[in-house]
Amino acid sequence: MQILENEPMSKHTSFRVGGPARFFVKAETIDELKQAITLAAEKSLPYFTLGNGTNLLVADKGFEGVVITLAGEFSKISDMGTGSFKVGAAVPLGRFARMALKQGYAGIHKLAGIPGTLGGAIYMNAGAYGQEIGTHCTQVAALDANGNIREYSNNDCAFGYRRSAFQKAGAAHPAGRAFNEDIAQVETILSATFLLESANTAGESQEQTVARLEAELAECMAKRKATQPLNMPNAGSTFKRLERGSADMPQQIAPGYYIEQAGLKGYRIGGAEVSTLHANFIVNAGGATAKDILNLSDYVKATVTEKFGVELQREIVMLGEF
Ligand SMILES: Cc1cc2nc3c(=O)[nH]c(=O)nc-3n(C[C@H](O)[C@H](O)[C@H](O)COP(=O)(O)OP(=O)(O)OC[C@H]3O[C@@H](n4cnc5c(N)ncnc54)[C@H](O)[C@@H]3O)c2cc1C
Repeated sequence: MQILENEPMSKHTSFRVGGPARFFVKAETIDELKQAITLAAEKSLPYFTLGNGTNLLVADKGFEGVVITLAGEFSKISDMGTGSFKVGAAVPLGRFARMALKQGYAGIHKLAGIPGTLGGAIYMNAGAYGQEIGTHCTQVAALDANGNIREYSNNDCAFGYRRSAFQKAGAAHPAGRAFNEDIAQVETILSATFLLESANTAGESQEQTVARLEAELAECMAKRKATQPLNMPNAGSTFKRLERGSADMPQQIAPGYYIEQAGLKGYRIGGAEVSTLHANFIVNAGGATAKDILNLSDYVKATVTEKFGVELQREIVMLGEF
């Protein structure tokens, strides 16, 4: 098991900011993962499971705990036939989505442009262009802090808009403030099982089905390229969409609308900038600190509340003491 000390988290987050993790452990097997959790317990330190760091803001002071990254056996996809797949938590979401697409399975192909891992996607219930990872997930295996493996059914996962049961009440969690300030990660997702439906329609060959799905994905990727600042370090959407309307007529409003209307596109604090391309993205425009990014997101939130009376909720997970 590889254990690094004082590993800069800026190397492991898409914002390219974040101070050192006291310990940084790469676990390739369940045994190694259990050893990493034991290491944390022995040192009386909290632990945190890292995916690809694409929805994460780590404090400049770093994290006085054990960051666990998964590899090896967690990077495997088992294809069990007829649309059934068991996918390790470290598998890049894009790899799985594209593999399913190539076999003509629909339901998750539009998620291929999300840069996280399967574990991070399940934790966040990542979604895009009308698809969500939770929809076709039948089971999740997770390891708790006592080393017990727990199986969650789709129902148990309680998937909602950017929510899952893996975001637990975090008040007692030593990793501290994370995700909307009140929830934290306390279990490590090991793998998830999916049952996908064939997209093949009557009169269409398998090649035509795959070509149709590829065209749909290409359209989504083109939209991403046109609307997201992919050439600058960022962590995707800063805030969640707002739920409006009634139970009968729910409506989601993009935070970017309010942020833009508030005149905040291009607004900077230190090296952090509200993207000029997409108002709901904060970018590291060069030399940003985690504090710059946090201060800017707080400023945006306060300004939008003051001008429009709406409360934005942060989507990005925060780790460490700010
Ligand atoms: C350019 C860009 C575009 C994006 N577009 C989208 C989009 O369209 N839709 C969308 O939903 N998101 C999007 N995101 C955000 C991000 O990619 C997703 O939230 C993704 O699911 C995070 O996965 P990750 O592996 O990077 O998780 P991380 O950022 O590493 O972690 C996020 C949270 O997941 C937890 N986690 C990760 N792995 C595990 C595990 N194995 N067990 C338990 N908890 C775990 C972490 O502890 C943390 O709390 C985008 C980000 C970027 C940079």
